[in-house]
Amino acid sequence: MARKRKRSLLEQVINSPAEKEQSTSPKLTKYWLQRYDLFSRYDEGIQMDEEGWYSVTPEKIAVKQAERCRGKVVIDCFSGVGGNTIQFAKVCSSVIAIDIDPVKVEMAINNAMVYGVDDRVDYVVGDFIHLAPSLKGDVLFLSPPWGGPMYNKVEIYTLDMLQPKDGYKLFQIAQTITPNIIMFLPRNVDLAQLEELAWLSSPPLTLVIEENCVGGRIKGITAYFSCSAV
Ligand code: ADP
Repeated sequence: MARKRKRSLLEQVINSPAEKEQSTSPKLTKYWLQRYDLFSRYDEGIQMDEEGWYSVTPEKIAVKQAERCRGKVVIDCFSGVGGNTIQFAKVCSSVIAIDIDPVKVEMAINNAMVYGVDDRVDYVVGDFIHLAPSLKGDVLFLSPPWGGPMYNKVEIYTLDMLQPKDGYKLFQIAQTITPNIIMFLPRNVDLAQLEELAWLSSPPLTLVIEENCVGGRIKGITAYFSCSAV
């Protein structure tokens, strides 16, 4: 009897979504081990797909990025499974979260519900590039596709490697909405190119660069562009 109960408990663990994801895709194990760095409330029903594991911003970093946008209207342009969106929703006046993938948006809504902030976000399924002319907000947050985990195979990550448009084009589109632009980029991004984006703008923008670490490791670079303090 006791053995039977133990087996059914084991089956429950193996069949839980997190264990299933890990067992069906061993290459995700590295990310799965960091699940609480990504979402501290992971065990309360967070949903992720494979792309989500690679691209979600670790929670501590998302908290810091959101803090600079306190009280503002923020547009999260490539929101994915919603790690940033949740933190923006906690401190900003409102959030528009955009992703081209409806499955990601479903997961983002679920994840915002886990954190109790779903009612503070307007979700849009769509292509940021196409939606840009109709968007209005105080701050634009860009965490565009870096090109998967291959980004750190190069010594210097140049802005033309960003997707779905190169970084210069993305920045140009972003500037039609607001000069207050935040970009979350690979740790090996070309800093000279970021400076160039700031001083080539008219009028030139202020640029603050932040190195984002989790567990003593650099996870990315956040570039804060603004015409005044964001
Ligand atoms: P990474 O290369 O960093 O892993 P992803 O390929 O996961 O990034 O992309 C990040 C998110 O951006 C994904 O959720 C994806 O659906 C979304 N995305 C990609 N292109 C667009 C777009 N044109 N407009 C809005 N969201 C997009």
